[in-house]
Amino acid sequence: MAAFEEIEGKAQELFRSYGYTEIRTPIFESKDLFVRSVGSDTDIVSKEMYVFKDKKGRELTLRPEATASVVRAWLENNLGADGGVSRLFYIGPMFRHERPQAGRYRQFHQLGCEILGAGTIEADVELIDLTMRLLQTLAIDGQLKINHIGGDEDKRRLADAIRSQAAGMIDDFCSDCRDRLDRNALRLLDCKNPKCRTLVEERILPSLPQSDSPEFVQLKKGLTELQIPFLVEPRLVRGLDYYTGTVFEVTSDMLGAQDALLGGGRYDNLVSELGGPSTPAVGFALGLDRLATLLIESDRDYRPHAPFFFVIGLGEAPRIKASRFAQLMRRAFETRTLSEGGAHRRIDLELQGRSLRSALKQADKLESQYAVIIGDEELERGTVVLRDMTGGNQVDVEIGEMSEHSVIRAAIDDGIRELVEARKTGQTVKE
Ligand code: AMP
Repeated sequence: MAAFEEIEGKAQELFRSYGYTEIRTPIFESKDLFVRSVGSDTDIVSKEMYVFKDKKGRELTLRPEATASVVRAWLENNLGADGGVSRLFYIGPMFRHERPQAGRYRQFHQLGCEILGAGTIEADVELIDLTMRLLQTLAIDGQLKINHIGGDEDKRRLADAIRSQAAGMIDDFCSDCRDRLDRNALRLLDCKNPKCRTLVEERILPSLPQSDSPEFVQLKKGLTELQIPFLVEPRLVRGLDYYTGTVFEVTSDMLGAQDALLGGGRYDNLVSELGGPSTPAVGFALGLDRLATLLIESDRDYRPHAPFFFVIGLGEAPRIKASRFAQLMRRAFETRTLSEGGAHRRIDLELQGRSLRSALKQADKLESQYAVIIGDEELERGTVVLRDMTGGNQVDVEIGEMSEHSVIRAAIDDGIRELVEARKTGQTVKE
């Protein structure tokens, strides 16, 4: 969860700085939406969707991806009414009935962005820049691969060319590819089977026309201008029917067989196919689970923050006082440091009624900086024992003066200082 939170937090901040707002769509949609958009001949729709009937016999689907849902919601809620550009992002679970393996799950999580209403190639460039910047912010390396598959007519021509090339050697391809040849010949190009890969490499690709459309030339110029390294990958076709024009993918060497971190492209016909006005669009989806795996494998420290205070009440009445004390201290840090913009300290309350010895052991285990102890005597005197857990020194402090005590003041000042420093270097502060 810590890795997920890091990704989501940084992504949200970055997406907002590019002008995106979040959209949340339902987990399930009518099956028809995906049949019409992703395409009935794709693996996702023909093999991988969770489909069930509701009480009225309507066929519903756990969403296998979010672009179709976003476009549906955008149309239904008239979000394009002003004729401007809509920049939307989403985060959430998706469902595909695939064979589970490392990096491939039946419930997985995607975050993605869609730009609706922008037909210029600069939209594609901006979107790719955004994805690469996100990975950079997370210190993750990825290889960007791009291709251009053209409009529906170009896609048909490409599929025909693949079909006629592959026809003579179809028995050499895997059974999936043999199936695909009639229905979705483009997918032969990105089959992962090593034998199919070699056939494609040596026998199919050389005879296919390479895209030299002006859009592709402009895309490459744009990426070069923005200093984004890329590789032209003629195999890259992506598995969803709605793509037209630019397609791209980012892979990572650090992942195993499932090495795609994110994928996207232009889908200029989808809005009109779903009943809306002709609207150019481009988007990407990133696999959160895979990215989280990479973060966890890097040398990040995802341990929870150690407490600043571990507050211990000894006996019934002192325990109530201890909880009041914890409340006051949390508020003190909140108003004094949070009002400055963020950093605060963790304050733990002992909740198991342990003896002093075992409570201190617990504080030590949690690497708490201080223990605060309230027993009957302290209760009577209106004081607490403040024990430095590193040196073992302890002092009595009056409760009323606690928030003015030098230890607390120093902690608050530290928090503020960290925050100011972090602002200077552009980092986020650990709580
Ligand atoms: P797609 O919608 O197939 O283009 O997938 C976009 C990204 O989502 C991929 O690059 C993966 O990172 C991730 N992804 C797709 N399917 C799965 C899955 N079954 N399990 C985990 N991640 C997935």
